[in-house]
Amino acid sequence: MDAVVVGSGPNGLAAAVTLAGAGLEVVVLEAQDTVGGGSRTLDLGLAPGVRHDICSAVHPMAWASPFFRSLRLDERVEVLTPEVSFAHPLDGGRAGVAYRDLDRTAEGLAADGEAWRRLFGPLSESWQDVVALALGDHRSVPDGVSGHPARAAATAARFALGVLRNGQSVVPSSLRTTEGAALLTGVAGHAITPLPSLAAAGTAVLLTTLAHAGHGWPVLRGGSQAIVDALLGDLVRLGGRVVTGHPVARRADLPPARAYLFDTGPRLVAQVFGDAMPPHLARAYAGYRYGNAAAKVDLVVDGPIPWAHPEVRRAGTVHLGGTRDQVVAAERAVARSRHAEHPLTLVSDPTVVDDSRATGGLRPVWAYAHVPAGSDVDPTEAVLRQVERFAPGFRDTVVAHHAIPAAGLAAHDANLVGGDISGGAVSLWSMATRPTPRLDPYASGAPGVYLCSASAPPGPGVHGLSGWYAARRALRQVFGRTVSR
Ligand SMILES: Cc1cc2nc3c(=O)[nH]c(=O)nc-3n(C[C@H](O)[C@H](O)[C@H](O)COP(=O)(O)OP(=O)(O)OC[C@H]3O[C@@H](n4cnc5c(N)ncnc54)[C@H](O)[C@@H]3O)c2cc1C
Repeated sequence: MDAVVVGSGPNGLAAAVTLAGAGLEVVVLEAQDTVGGGSRTLDLGLAPGVRHDICSAVHPMAWASPFFRSLRLDERVEVLTPEVSFAHPLDGGRAGVAYRDLDRTAEGLAADGEAWRRLFGPLSESWQDVVALALGDHRSVPDGVSGHPARAAATAARFALGVLRNGQSVVPSSLRTTEGAALLTGVAGHAITPLPSLAAAGTAVLLTTLAHAGHGWPVLRGGSQAIVDALLGDLVRLGGRVVTGHPVARRADLPPARAYLFDTGPRLVAQVFGDAMPPHLARAYAGYRYGNAAAKVDLVVDGPIPWAHPEVRRAGTVHLGGTRDQVVAAERAVARSRHAEHPLTLVSDPTVVDDSRATGGLRPVWAYAHVPAGSDVDPTEAVLRQVERFAPGFRDTVVAHHAIPAAGLAAHDANLVGGDISGGAVSLWSMATRPTPRLDPYASGAPGVYLCSASAPPGPGVHGLSGWYAARRALRQVFGRTVSR
């Protein structure tokens, strides 16, 4: 065996495909009975034929990923772009709405329209430079992807300014209306870290840029599993294979190989190969820090979500938390290990653009709420209350539901420690230096052993890039091969 990949999430499969594509013999060992980690779509038995995205559902980073673009993924899976990338309803039937179309968004934001356009107009035009900056390995100088180094530098400066302007409380954000401020704060909330903060603002600027570029914030026909199926198809075609139901906990669980790539948290690498790692790295990996959490609710409903604001009904993703101050307060409670009374809640109804997801008039609704790490509280009531607040009558449409408290998520994917969906605590420092502050973030220090999961740069999201970057290092360092981009 040339290489073993532990874990079949999007990064594990990306690593395996890259290695197999270089002619290596590769096997992927997966603890679960199903392949795909955070990109699986499963039948939870809630209603016949209705399938649920158990982790990721919405894919701005997938279409923008240079790795997935190199595989022409958007020609092989059906990418469905909602007219509204994301929406943020407010009490009283109002809402902030981010259309895929920037001009329409700016018009809708009235007094904040110009500030929104000034920030996201140039960034969305040079989205490839934004991706090179934010989704690189966070160690090397980003490529001037556009072939214009001066433009790439201008984009970096704009991105940094947007982050600074919206990531602290000293200088007020450029967005002053209730709708505009809430709209951007909802996206910042994806980082599950206190607001305002530079890390959360970085998340917001990246994701909002992608909302106005390319495929926006799409879903994939049939669900996130489409990405897994495409990668798995490539792997098998290249001679690789996946063994499911094979958890790795010690060296004896691994077949002999020249390289091992872990699509897992760093703690498992320390557990399995700690004795072969330099002691300071083994300690850092073993003590790797996780952050706050999400608690998941999957629902089956018998009609569209009755959002009070008509434009919210066109959105692929909806952020529920009320005004900026309300969202900030809810995230602050979570940061202090308390359950927010009205937690920031994310909701997606894929049938807004994918009618194949509706079966016999029933449709899946994907939702999660932010909670403290390790929470064992059932989130169903909190989520129902938040949706009902902005979509009166929603409760009456719910036919079935299934909740996984944060503490239970690791049973579905061991990487989700305590319900952390970001592969580790999120701060500007941790995002810039994860998993440890070294020049090579993928090599564990044990010969031939690499970390290739979202706990390595560029971090969370379905993009396959951690796997791709780690596999390229392994190819170069262990097998003496260079893979062109
Ligand atoms: C509720 C939720 C919602 C999300 N929503 C989105 C979204 O809408 N869009 C988006 O882009 N991202 C989203 N994410 C994040 C995204 O799913 C992850 O960032 C991404 O899946 C990380 O990929 P990965 O390959 O690094 O790890 P994972 O996808 O977590 O895969 C890791 C794999 O390794 C396996 N594994 C772990 N330990 C072992 C072991 N000891 N032995 C063998 N196998 C093991 C796991 O079973 C799993 O299959 C969400 C995550 C969650 C949990």
